[in-house]
Amino acid sequence: MRYSLPLLLSCLAVTPLLAQGTKPKPEDTEVWSPVPRVVTPGRTDAQPPSDAIVLFDGRNLEQWVSVNDHGPARWTVADGILTVNKPAGNIETKRSFTNYQLHLEWRIPEGITGSGQARGNSGVFLASTGNGDAGYEIQVLDSYDNKTYVNGQAAAIYKQYAPLVNAMRKPGEWNTYDIIWTAPTFHDDGSVATPAYVTAFHNGVLVQDHVALKGETLYIGAPSYKKHGPSPIKLQAHGDPSAPISFRNIWVRDLSQP
Ligand code: MG
Repeated sequence: MRYSLPLLLSCLAVTPLLAQGTKPKPEDTEVWSPVPRVVTPGRTDAQPPSDAIVLFDGRNLEQWVSVNDHGPARWTVADGILTVNKPAGNIETKRSFTNYQLHLEWRIPEGITGSGQARGNSGVFLASTGNGDAGYEIQVLDSYDNKTYVNGQAAAIYKQYAPLVNAMRKPGEWNTYDIIWTAPTFHDDGSVATPAYVTAFHNGVLVQDHVALKGETLYIGAPSYKKHGPSPIKLQAHGDPSAPISFRNIWVRDLSQP
């Protein structure tokens, strides 16, 4: 009996995985190469357009709640800037959204310490589907000079898509995200009708080009969808020990309205 070469090769490739039979590890889903090339961004300045819903204008957090208890968001507002309060946990918008365009600015503090995922880790969940980190995260991290798995660096769709390039500004400087989110749609039985799509610019540079998400972003394991409707936008209070990062000038344009 003859076996085809491709069939033999695929059996050889699968065997070590089956033999291990161990529990999934974070490393299983990390990709380390090819590393996106560095592109130095130009200067940008983005004021909210007239049809934007302003989510943070530097004054207060009245558009936000704590994810843990849906009470007031307890991050720090000072000098027009919002800074993560890690013990207070994630915060999310009071409003829910379907399809939208989002602008926000974020800054890694000068003198940031740590490495890999423990260096200025935060994140923007484009739809928050539950407590904790449930939802679809575009990563916020110091990726100016900080090696990590590329599908977990800044502007990655976490563990699904590395950014097309690395457009990161250095710590102490403000970064911008401009993101177009198309929510997934579902059949009545909960199966996916159309996946979520993301297009994103980091400091004005295209980093995600209409990528189709494979499901909610997960730390461990393969992504999958579970049916949901309009959802809040969530910001991550990551537990890494590095200094907290800051946000400013957050606005959204609702693309679900006619
Ligand atoms: Mg994160």
